[in-house]
Amino acid sequence: MYLLWMLACATAPAAPPQTPTAPHAVQKTDAEWRAALSPESYGILRQKDTERAFSGSYWNHHDAGTYLCAGCGQPLFTSEDKFDSGTGWPSYTRPASADAVEVEVDRSYGMSREEVLCHRCGGHLGHVFDDGPPPTGRRYCINSGALTFQASAP
Ligand code: FE
Repeated sequence: MYLLWMLACATAPAAPPQTPTAPHAVQKTDAEWRAALSPESYGILRQKDTERAFSGSYWNHHDAGTYLCAGCGQPLFTSEDKFDSGTGWPSYTRPASADAVEVEVDRSYGMSREEVLCHRCGGHLGHVFDDGPPPTGRRYCINSGALTFQASAP
């Protein structure tokens, strides 16, 4: 697992600081996750499913606030870093904090992609690409079903 982290960093020198994979602070059994999450969120967070483009709750969502992990409540992304990517998935230029997420190399489906996971519970969130806008040039392409939204205080 540590090797994967090293490879992720080697291919993404411009990425914000990422933390190596360690035992996650939030640990549940598969049965506990299944009971705690909606079927959609369980599929994404725990089985690495991808929701259909333009089908989720947040790709076209523009309220001010914070996007939390649907698995553990960790703040992951903010509306300030959200942009309209045109992909049909909520997209951000960076995480809410440097240690909010982890990035691992994902070689599934014959591709080499950078997988984004919640640092607190290890839930799968989506992938990150190097074709994003300024200021980071990164595009965190995230499943709505991995998120919940907390509006900013008025
Ligand atoms: Fe989480």
